[in-house]
Amino acid sequence: MSDFDFDAVVVGAGAVGLASGYALTRRGLTVAVLEQDKVIGQGVSSRNSEVIHGGLYYPTGSLKARLCVQGRRLLYAFLDKHHVTYDRCGKLVVATNIDEVPRLAEILKQAHDNDVEGMEELSKAQALALEPELGVEAALLSPQSGVFESHSYMLALEGEIEEGGGAVVLSTPFDGAVPRDGGGFEVRAGGEEPTTLTCRYLVTAPGLSAQAVAATIEGFPKDTIPPGHYGKGMYFRLTGKAPFARLIYPPPIHGALGTHYRRDLGGQAVFGPDLTYVDSLDYSVDPSAEPAFAQYIRKFWPGLPDGALTPDYAGIRPKLHGADEPQPDFRIDGVDAHGLPGLVALFGIESPGLTSSLAIGEEVAARLGLQTGV
Ligand SMILES: Cc1cc2nc3c(=O)[nH]c(=O)nc-3n(C[C@H](O)[C@H](O)[C@H](O)COP(=O)(O)OP(=O)(O)OC[C@H]3O[C@@H](n4cnc5c(N)ncnc54)[C@H](O)[C@@H]3O)c2cc1C
Repeated sequence: MSDFDFDAVVVGAGAVGLASGYALTRRGLTVAVLEQDKVIGQGVSSRNSEVIHGGLYYPTGSLKARLCVQGRRLLYAFLDKHHVTYDRCGKLVVATNIDEVPRLAEILKQAHDNDVEGMEELSKAQALALEPELGVEAALLSPQSGVFESHSYMLALEGEIEEGGGAVVLSTPFDGAVPRDGGGFEVRAGGEEPTTLTCRYLVTAPGLSAQAVAATIEGFPKDTIPPGHYGKGMYFRLTGKAPFARLIYPPPIHGALGTHYRRDLGGQAVFGPDLTYVDSLDYSVDPSAEPAFAQYIRKFWPGLPDGALTPDYAGIRPKLHGADEPQPDFRIDGVDAHGLPGLVALFGIESPGLTSSLAIGEEVAARLGLQTGV
């Protein structure tokens, strides 16, 4: 009989918190996922591109490279098993002018080093044979990339946690935790009926609140909490027929993969996200950004008609770097980083966090010293 109310408490019911809860459930632990919102998955996980990334770009050996490739493989298998809709449509990384062609060779090498399967180099003619409306000089095909129904994915994760005897507790903010003598934590949960509960393991996956949440844990060394920044990305939707079947990505910009094209699962064309640093959680889409979007899109789709873009939605990336700083890796901080046994704190889980989520869950379990999942 355990001394604890739950074996593990996870803070945050986004894709990453739920996937972490699932990884612990698979190891036979009872898990409570605390979510401040009334519904799961309304944070960063509800405002993104829903792209399953191949794992092409990230520096080899980084968490992003390893967990994206592993996470993608796990994700397709999970989606199949749970009958969650996806479209493994593939993606073209396009050089839209001669100057960009050498970038493709660099990206291809990075993809091979990252163990990404099935990459193909395409000439201009080959790319145009696949997508006749492209403005392109050469391209790379990443056949493993796709789009998926991320909310159904999160519901499936919630179902797995509950089947394993755990709970996803809504409208219940995590207000702080105190390490207990002899191990584990006492957790303060707020909401309409504030309570305390005990657990052996604590995992924090609160997305944009990662820094604030870590600061409420007694004994968490403040100097190990990385600074947080908000990286806003806006999307515009096309009125009219989707011009391409595959994802279309120009080479990445500094700090993000940049404005790209996708055909969503409803068959509509969406462009975005751009990247602007902001000071508050402002999800408005500025219509005056339309000309800049149109100009950028015409580099790879010269046929974009005038006036065909409408403002759609925006998301905000939990960034660990400022606009001019190098982009760091995910932070999955275990006892070595903060000195608190039984705690894993996640920071900076921006893209490709959705694709990587199942592998991040496995990594969380490993950092807690738990055996490989069954
Ligand atoms: C514009 C944009 C595009 C992106 N595109 C992609 C993509 O195409 N593919 C991809 O792989 N990744 C993409 N990402 C990244 C991906 O969306 C994120 O990495 C992922 O969704 C993060 O999930 P999360 O669970 O860490 O955070 P969240 O989804 O934000 O979940 C955190 C949860 O914690 C809750 N919470 C916060 N504080 C507390 C508290 N004190 N108590 C209880 N609950 C709390 C929040 O309410 C929230 O529900 C994109 C991100 C952005 C912004």
